[in-house]
Amino acid sequence: MALIAVRDLRKSFDDEEVLGGVSIDIREGDLVSIIGPSGCGKSTFLRCLNGLEILDSGSITIDGVTLSRTSPDEKPSRALMEATHELRREVGIVFQGFNLFPHKTVLENVMLAPVVVKGESPEKAETEALRLLGKVGLEGYAHRYPVTLSGGQAQRAAIARALAMSPKVMLYDEPTSALDPELVGEVLQVMRDLDAEGMTQVIVTHEMRFAREASDYVVFMDKGEIVEVADGDEMFTSPRNERTRDFLRHLV
Ligand code: ADP
Ligand code: MG
Repeated sequence: MALIAVRDLRKSFDDEEVLGGVSIDIREGDLVSIIGPSGCGKSTFLRCLNGLEILDSGSITIDGVTLSRTSPDEKPSRALMEATHELRREVGIVFQGFNLFPHKTVLENVMLAPVVVKGESPEKAETEALRLLGKVGLEGYAHRYPVTLSGGQAQRAAIARALAMSPKVMLYDEPTSALDPELVGEVLQVMRDLDAEGMTQVIVTHEMRFAREASDYVVFMDKGEIVEVADGDEMFTSPRNERTRDFLRHLV
């Protein structure tokens, strides 16, 4: 059974169709990399998956919570808005720019959502936050402010903050693109560790080696569609689709 099931997902901005009918099943525990040219809809797809963008039509089911809509003319129903709200709590997302609150310490950043959104006690949230900071290799950094962290540390703190909501799924949108090359590995390692623990993860990335080696499979998107899904070795050595071949040929 798929943990994430997407059926004929469509999304336009103004009159431009950005997702033209995306369908995919992602099993629990999978690590899936999404690759594809700039502007092909990768970020929009991730944002739809956790309800940051409201789909025009189609359906997204994650762990039994379904967002569905038949047409963009249909006013988003109350059920859709409630499901969106629920999904946002169950799906963590990490962006390219770390988006930590600058006037809060690392610990406060990680504790905030559990206390404010889930109503956890500060004591419980703090214990859990310290555990998560240890897990991403930031023990000793709890009382630092984000500005004093390296990009790799800030991104790991952002991952800990997302994990603090105990998400069923973690999404990452180019999490290492803003990092100096020597800091990329430490962030990717956190994803490998989470994979080993069985976390379901979807990552939009330009790190082709990571996509090839760490993912259960790789999804190639182009022009708002999923063009090809293959395991890493197959995608990078013998892609079946001409558009995939063309994209991979032009990678620097
Ligand atoms: P990718 O992440 O693959 O680079 P995006 O999903 O960010 O692609 O964007 C796909 C297309 O949708 C682009 O043409 C982009 O300009 C457009 N787009 C994305 N978000 C918006 C928005 N909020 N309003 C209008 N157009 C958008
Ligand atoms: Mg993007």
